[in-house]
Amino acid sequence: MIISKSREEIELMRESALIVSKTLGILAPEIKPGVTTLKLDKLAEEFIRDHGAVPGFLGLYDFPNSLCMSPNAQVVHGIPNDTPLKEGDIISIDCGALKNGFYGDHAYTFEVGEVAPEVKKLLQVTKESLYVGIREFKAGNRVGDVGYAIQKYTEDHGYGVVRELVGHGLGKTMHEDPEMPNYGKRGRGKKFVEGMVVAIEPMINLGTKRIKQLPDGWTILTADNKPSAHFEHDVALVDGKPELLSTFKYIYESLNINTKEEEEFRAKVYD
Ligand code: MG
Ligand code: MG
Repeated sequence: MIISKSREEIELMRESALIVSKTLGILAPEIKPGVTTLKLDKLAEEFIRDHGAVPGFLGLYDFPNSLCMSPNAQVVHGIPNDTPLKEGDIISIDCGALKNGFYGDHAYTFEVGEVAPEVKKLLQVTKESLYVGIREFKAGNRVGDVGYAIQKYTEDHGYGVVRELVGHGLGKTMHEDPEMPNYGKRGRGKKFVEGMVVAIEPMINLGTKRIKQLPDGWTILTADNKPSAHFEHDVALVDGKPELLSTFKYIYESLNINTKEEEEFRAKVYD
């Protein structure tokens, strides 16, 4: 059952989403060769608690940490550890925060130092596919319209779209209806309703779409050990249009990256 949120509830959810956005923003400048994912996890937990929230993933389904940290061939659900990141790695950081009874949940894949051009391209296209998908999250559309858009955009680049893991509704629980796959058919699936909030999160592989899982019971990685990218935003359906609750702007400010991608997204949604 899809649970619609009131305007007041959506503002509370924005608060939770922005705590996650700011957490990713403070981590961004720390992501360098030599840093461990465990150190980043501790920084994140401290920041989240200092902002009156609780880490959303810590203890959720018994997950042991605050962040899911998934380098290189890991798709999602990687567990922070004391292995230092190295030049040329990529690292997906997925972060959750719970405040005022509502969850925020979003993710970004970072470059560690200089990354190979084909991997850079994977990150760029995956992030673009996130916005391409979010644009289809609008009144009159269905779950399949978002999935179709992401799948088409990324498969046209020859990438593999992970099937087993999907986006989801978000609210007082981390995973609500509906499931939001990154593949699908136009006009299929549940119809979007005003006030619903979803986490849209393409997980896109450089090679095969197939995945495997490590014996730790958590870590998902690509079956061919080629890199995988993951970007996620929290989005509310307001006045029939997608409204971003999370933002990458704190990451870009930290890294001195000059981009207008969120402004361009809004311009396309409201044109
Ligand atoms: Mg997430
Ligand atoms: Mg999610």
